[in-house]
Amino acid sequence: MLKQIYEKIKQYNTIVIARHIGVDPDALGSQFALKETIELNFEDKKVYAVGTKSSRYNYFPKLDKYEKTNNEDVLLIVVDTPDKKRVDGVNVDLFPNVCKIDHHPFIEKLGEFEYIDTASSSASELVYRFIKENNIPMNKKVAEYLFYGIISDTNRFLFNTTSNTLRIIEGLIDDYNLETESLYKKLYARPFSEVRFQGYISENLTLTDNGLAYVIISNDTLTKYGVDSSSAGNMVNNYNNIDEVIVWATISEDVKNNQYKFNIRSRGPSINQIAEKYNGGGHKLASGARVKNLEEVELLIKDLDDICKEFRKAGN
Ligand code: AMP
Repeated sequence: MLKQIYEKIKQYNTIVIARHIGVDPDALGSQFALKETIELNFEDKKVYAVGTKSSRYNYFPKLDKYEKTNNEDVLLIVVDTPDKKRVDGVNVDLFPNVCKIDHHPFIEKLGEFEYIDTASSSASELVYRFIKENNIPMNKKVAEYLFYGIISDTNRFLFNTTSNTLRIIEGLIDDYNLETESLYKKLYARPFSEVRFQGYISENLTLTDNGLAYVIISNDTLTKYGVDSSSAGNMVNNYNNIDEVIVWATISEDVKNNQYKFNIRSRGPSINQIAEKYNGGGHKLASGARVKNLEEVELLIKDLDDICKEFRKAGN
């Protein structure tokens, strides 16, 4: 399949690369690694990396605008995204020629050629596999983008890390002389306001008897601490490996879109099917959802608490 995707790339002079909304370093890493690789090897091709910009990840290049609606002669490649509604920056239905490279559980078919491996640490690892299987020359920039993606989606090798993931990182560092300290600095730099805000979350997490920890963060609280709802979402990664907690979630009010955003993590039961019930989805142990009001917030909290209860009852 990766060979067929490469053949498709060779056929088209205009290529659009899209990834998911609610951007993160793996979405950007896989997107820009692919863009840079194509531009490096095909000078005549015009490649667009589309989607909403995020100042938080300004160590990646600027995103491109793409507004054409007749796309007969254009190839769209979607990375790190399982379904149309989560694709940022373009309407997939306007593209007759689509390929997908993803590590999320399958939700819907976007195009003729789809390469999906849910066992992969990250979409960036799959883009690396794409490059290697096709023997495509790459450069240091590509190596850095892939490094950001793999390191961040594995949370520095805590999740979904195989010996192969480690070998890939070893190869990237050795072959392209990556200065890991400076890359880590970019990935993990954060404003002091977030440190204070983390204190607020730790103080205000509710822990249920069944092992669900959650915090509802109002817009007033976000304003008070000077953070936005996406920074609030990133905080969820700080609460793994707590003895009493099986599933945990940050729930932040997003007034701009008139909704509440759930960022959910688990260290046991699968949460993605529950997230899917609430306009969300994701991986077995890392998911997100969007709900409209506090009543729905309560319903989702109840569902998450119930799976913790079942998980405990099953002897875990
Ligand atoms: P996050 O908590 O934003 O890091 O997201 C964890 C995982 O869940 C990622 O794989 C996201 O792509 C996925 N995810 C987050 N929000 C949603 C959503 N509303 N719908 C579907 N998947 C989501």
